[in-house]
Amino acid sequence: MRDARILYVNLTDKTTEFKILPGDIYEKYPGGSALGMYILLKEMNPNVDPLSPDNIMVFAISPLTGIPISGQSRMNLTAKSPLTGTAGDSQVGGFIAPTLAGNNLDAIVIKGKSKNPVYIYIDKNDIQLRDALPMWGKTTSDSEEFIKKDLDHEKFESSIIGPGGENLVLYASIMHRLSRANGRNGLGAVMGSKNLKALVLKKYSAPKAADIKGMKTLTLDVKKRMSANEVIVDTTEHGSGGCIDAHAAEGFLPSFNFDAGIYDGWEKTAGSTVTKTILKERDTCFGCAIRCKRVVDVPGKAEPKYGGPEYETLATFGSYCGNTDLAEICHANQLCNMYGIDTISCGATIAWAMDSYEKGLITKDDTDGLELKYGDAGVFEILIEKIVNQEPGIGQLLAMGSARAAEKIGKGTEDLVVACKKQELPGHMVQFKPNLAVNYAVNPFGADHQSSEHDPALMAPDDDQNWIWPNQLASFKKCDSYGILDDNKAKFAWETQKFYAMMDTLCLCQFAWGPAWQLYGPDDLVKFCKFGANIDWNISTLQEVGERRIVMMKLFNQKLGLTRKDDILPKKAFLPIEYRKGEIAQITETQFENALTSYYSYAGWDPESGLPKKETIERLGLNWI
Ligand code: SF4
Repeated sequence: MRDARILYVNLTDKTTEFKILPGDIYEKYPGGSALGMYILLKEMNPNVDPLSPDNIMVFAISPLTGIPISGQSRMNLTAKSPLTGTAGDSQVGGFIAPTLAGNNLDAIVIKGKSKNPVYIYIDKNDIQLRDALPMWGKTTSDSEEFIKKDLDHEKFESSIIGPGGENLVLYASIMHRLSRANGRNGLGAVMGSKNLKALVLKKYSAPKAADIKGMKTLTLDVKKRMSANEVIVDTTEHGSGGCIDAHAAEGFLPSFNFDAGIYDGWEKTAGSTVTKTILKERDTCFGCAIRCKRVVDVPGKAEPKYGGPEYETLATFGSYCGNTDLAEICHANQLCNMYGIDTISCGATIAWAMDSYEKGLITKDDTDGLELKYGDAGVFEILIEKIVNQEPGIGQLLAMGSARAAEKIGKGTEDLVVACKKQELPGHMVQFKPNLAVNYAVNPFGADHQSSEHDPALMAPDDDQNWIWPNQLASFKKCDSYGILDDNKAKFAWETQKFYAMMDTLCLCQFAWGPAWQLYGPDDLVKFCKFGANIDWNISTLQEVGERRIVMMKLFNQKLGLTRKDDILPKKAFLPIEYRKGEIAQITETQFENALTSYYSYAGWDPESGLPKKETIERLGLNWI
């Protein structure tokens, strides 16, 4: 493996330095999430306050970044998360990752805290810390306009925080091109705590593939692959919002803060409805033929420049809150993107507040006099403004996320929180996809739907790629009904989690690359590594890259005192869900605990403590931690 070139920026003393990470180390931590975690573990005490100058941010790409093939467009950000208090991790798509590669960089490490608001401007070897005071307090859109004027050109890509990050909302995001986000884990607040408003890179073309002819063998048949794959066809047509239609059809669309799997009027918020009614155009990321990104136009509510709601946003501001007003979902999406806060945690936290209000656990005395009723989308704008500005009362309460808010307010609202490690659950119900019960619980950076494959792959026919590709990782047993949580599912959770962790390391989009329904599978990725960056890996090597990243995160959390007792699910995960008339799906606590024990056993972790065993740590070469 070639060496990695890393830029270090210290905001406290305003120094910059380029460092080289030798290829033999880079090979073990080959970019993205693994490289970020390696740097954090080497250079930071995990016990730091995430919002102090001691927290370190690592923006990283991979040796495959910038090579024109669908789905290699992501930039990973690692730091300690203020939301979960654990290892933090988040990816963004779009065009900033190849721009980092075009600047001959593999990662940027940011330390310290600036005395005054600044933004970092990178033009290859010219690194500038520029005054950001004029755009402090401004929206992401106004900030982007300021940067254009300040630099006197528009040839740049940027990651910018809004007032959400500046005001330390615990689920603040970092926005790229106003519509893509490093959304989860609250890493925008880490940026805000450092007085860092934006990371801006001058545009340069990314390096070429090592074997251009070889790459053509992978990309030539992309149209055929796309048209032959019904999930990709749907993702292209309806974006991730097509999951509203699919989940509602099965009866597993998380509704009323996960009390139900369907609600009346869901059709009004469906991905297909977005396509038919308000879609202006489809957008994409660098080199991607799928074009899943939505651009909507809702006069007076949502401008096209803020993109459009993804599935998760349609769900959190829609079904989670019992809301059928699509225009208000788009408006909430716009506000979150303008102010830089995560749409999942924001919508889910509001749903928790509505649930608490509807059940009489909180009253107008707790909500600044607001009625928080399911279906009343009129409160979204009021609440988002209060959250972003950290207004004393309901604003400050909801700005800390549902888990901390419930801890503060008590009165039984704790039982209504739907989060793991204090991060709100995305819109995939564990009664429908029970392997996610294990994954949500064990995932080192909180509940995440993109950290393992989803269960329906195990229900696919033998000749379907949904069945063939996962079985390239390990052999699984077929599953013929919902709600099964057993040893097979625990194995599926572990094996596919390794693959997803590897993808977060190689910075690949999980709609294009993956182990089941995606455009490219495990065997294609082996070829991509070879043709793209002359890396000779096989599927086992790829799996080991992912495993190393998971175990590093686990060891980071171990230093914070986390054990099996922290790998738990919210109470609502065990509710029975009537997904069809008279048909109930449910997982029990016993099934969950047994599956957890199986998972630890597959992972080589101690079932009592839930921590990696010594031999596992040694096998992965992680004894230095
Ligand atoms: S599938 Fe969608 S999110 Fe992924 S790279 Fe392509 S356009 Fe971007």
